[in-house]
Amino acid sequence: MSEHAAFLHEAIISWYDHHGRDLPMRSPSVSAWGTLVFEVMSQQTPIPRVQPIWVQWMERWPTPADLAAASPAEVLVAWDRLGYPSRALRLRECAEAIATSYEGEVPSSYEELLGLPGIGPYTASAVASFSYHQPVPVLDTNIRRVLGRVLDGVERPPASAPGRVEVARAAALVPADGDEAAAWNVSIMELGALVCTARSPLCQACPVDEVCAWRAAGYPAAPGKKRTQAWAGTDRQARGRVMAALRAAHQKLEAWDEDGRSGLGEGPRSGLGEDGRSGLGEGPRSGLGEDGRSGLAEGPRSAVPNVGITMEQALKAATLPGADPTQAQRVLEGLLRDGLVSQSPDGWIHLPR
Ligand code: SF4
Repeated sequence: MSEHAAFLHEAIISWYDHHGRDLPMRSPSVSAWGTLVFEVMSQQTPIPRVQPIWVQWMERWPTPADLAAASPAEVLVAWDRLGYPSRALRLRECAEAIATSYEGEVPSSYEELLGLPGIGPYTASAVASFSYHQPVPVLDTNIRRVLGRVLDGVERPPASAPGRVEVARAAALVPADGDEAAAWNVSIMELGALVCTARSPLCQACPVDEVCAWRAAGYPAAPGKKRTQAWAGTDRQARGRVMAALRAAHQKLEAWDEDGRSGLGEGPRSGLGEDGRSGLGEGPRSGLGEDGRSGLAEGPRSAVPNVGITMEQALKAATLPGADPTQAQRVLEGLLRDGLVSQSPDGWIHLPR
């Protein structure tokens, strides 16, 4: 280990000891499963949004076997607004694979982790390092940015996934001792999240400012503009609206299931149309019981909410103001193709069961 590497370790780990956030997801008592769930959730979603969902998720499904026993619809509802909900379904598949192939224990080797559904190089290395203290490099966006600035003098790393050279260089910097390696990985990740941020690095608070190549070079701007992901008007926004409508419909059913009656109120047929169907709109009645109720639940017939929404309602949810007229149909077809949404033979649109 070079003197330079030893200095970086000492400076950044010591900075973390004083300034790192006290996140429940990073507690030493968190299981490997808890770490895996957190890493999947936080890849494309900021930590403040992830934290409450992760806490609820771990209370409800503390082990892979617990999540494997949940229905896809339950998992998608619990995923709430974390975005990219395919991750939730893949996480459930991952739980099934761990429950069936690894006796419910998250495997510890990088290769085995990488073989699990939905687990890529980043998550595999994070779990191997944070949970099993293996001396492997963890290359998330924050770590890549800090290393690129300190060592290469560049504002940001390539937009592509880390290549072999970048991985090898990061691996050479990882302390040989597993405990220290885990501390290094979490510390440099936190430095990137809190100090060496993408837009406004706080160099005056940085423990390695004196050896930072990018700072020494006068902060040269990276060529080209960083692509920022638009949201308004995109298919992602329209997909989010359909998923929100379906989560709401499913939650009504869950509330009814829990109470044995509608959780929506005490009045007759509360929340439903006059014919006992969902108040969400008009839809086909076929596939429902003869009385117009969903066939999925038993109970007082006057209060059973429908399990999904009609095609018309789904298309309406997918229609953004001023959008291309083909967008709604395209979005719905995409959701069906991705398995995030199902359609009953009678035409109702619902979460996969
Ligand atoms: S000196 Fe500034 S740019 Fe360099 S690593 Fe520290 S925060 Fe980042």
